[in-house]
Amino acid sequence: MIFIFLVASIIRSSEVIEQAIEQENYAQNLVTHTNILKQLIINNDIYKDNYNASTWHDSQRKLAMILKDSPTLTPQEQTLKNSINSQNLSVIRLFQKINENKLHNASEAIKAHLKNRLIIQLETIRGDSEQLSTIAQKNIHHVLKQEVAIIVIILAVCIFLLTFGAHHLTKVFKTSMNEIKDAFQANHSGHFEEIKLSNHSQEFENIANAFNAMNEKLSKTTVSLQVMKQVVEERTHVLEELSNTDPLTKVANRRALFDRGHIEISRVQRSQNNLTIILLDCDLFKEFNDKYGHLVGDEVLMHICEICTKEIREIDFLGRYGGEEFVIILPDCDIAGGLETARRIQDSLARHCMSVDNKEINMTLSIGIATFNEKHQSFEELINDADRAMYLAKENGRNRIEVYKSQNLH
Ligand code: GH3
Ligand code: MG
Ligand code: MG
Repeated sequence: MIFIFLVASIIRSSEVIEQAIEQENYAQNLVTHTNILKQLIINNDIYKDNYNASTWHDSQRKLAMILKDSPTLTPQEQTLKNSINSQNLSVIRLFQKINENKLHNASEAIKAHLKNRLIIQLETIRGDSEQLSTIAQKNIHHVLKQEVAIIVIILAVCIFLLTFGAHHLTKVFKTSMNEIKDAFQANHSGHFEEIKLSNHSQEFENIANAFNAMNEKLSKTTVSLQVMKQVVEERTHVLEELSNTDPLTKVANRRALFDRGHIEISRVQRSQNNLTIILLDCDLFKEFNDKYGHLVGDEVLMHICEICTKEIREIDFLGRYGGEEFVIILPDCDIAGGLETARRIQDSLARHCMSVDNKEINMTLSIGIATFNEKHQSFEELINDADRAMYLAKENGRNRIEVYKSQNLH
């Protein structure tokens, strides 16, 4: 729209300038031919018999022709042209008068007067023609100035509109891109969010529609990554628990016991703290099984584990070492502490008897205790010592606690 206005204005201005140039040329032609006539009068004595009147007439005809065939003039210029026209008629009449024979005998004063009038008349025509030229030139300047002003205003409007448009477009682009990015990020973390555009543009709406359609399909068929992760973590945890737990007694199995044992050994090797272990073995369990049955034997094992769990500290660790053998790891605990714990367990077991067919069953434990010293290179070596102490307890009559001492054992 603005550009159409600009082009129309330029076309119109060029037409006006062209017209003004034509007027200016016209006025210049008038000036030139008036000058020629003036020169003809000044250069030669008009009263002489050999004065070349035909040259004068030719030039006069040309001036008359120019006056006749004028370009389109403004009202002001037209007035001037009319004045020049009438003055030219006076010039023709004056020239006729001078040429009449009767004037040849006129006084020199009259002759000079008439010649002067003719020159003055031509000078007036020349002056008016120059004024005509000045008006045309002014018109050119005026139109040029007007056109420059229009172009400057249009350019300013264009620059403003372009800047405003560019700013607006950048804003729309940035906002839309951020909204799309947010939707992608949400999608990535498992939240199937739709793209909601705050600015409406065909291109971004196409992207948003395609994304939203894809999102809808995905949300129906995909389990969120978060949920999946949670399920996997839960299952892994359950599997880990199962792989580390003894299925009968629900305490740590042999593998978990040794894993923990290795950790405690390396910790005690670094810290120089105490580490004591207790090994418990059910006395004459084979006979017990034979007497009450294997299932009752199982219940006794579970009962022993419950008692041990109650009697140990939070940091202690109970694990099933073998069939009817259990190990308790006691970090930061010396032999005295181990003995005390072992006694507590024996007492508790004695106090909490199990009953089968309303008959109380007495189950006793032979316990071996070993504490970590600089000679121990591994958890297995420590267990070995506790095992030897436990066998000593068996040898010494069962239902006993023995502490591993190298001089006692061989
Ligand atoms: P000792 O006093 O010398 O230790 O005699 P013991 O009978 O306990 O020794 P032995 O090692 O000969 O017997 C251990 C028995 O423990 C043999 C096995 O049947 C029994 N046993 C091992 N695991 C289980 C189990 O999970 N449940 C039951 N009920 N019995 C088990
Ligand atoms: Mg045994
Ligand atoms: Mg036994």
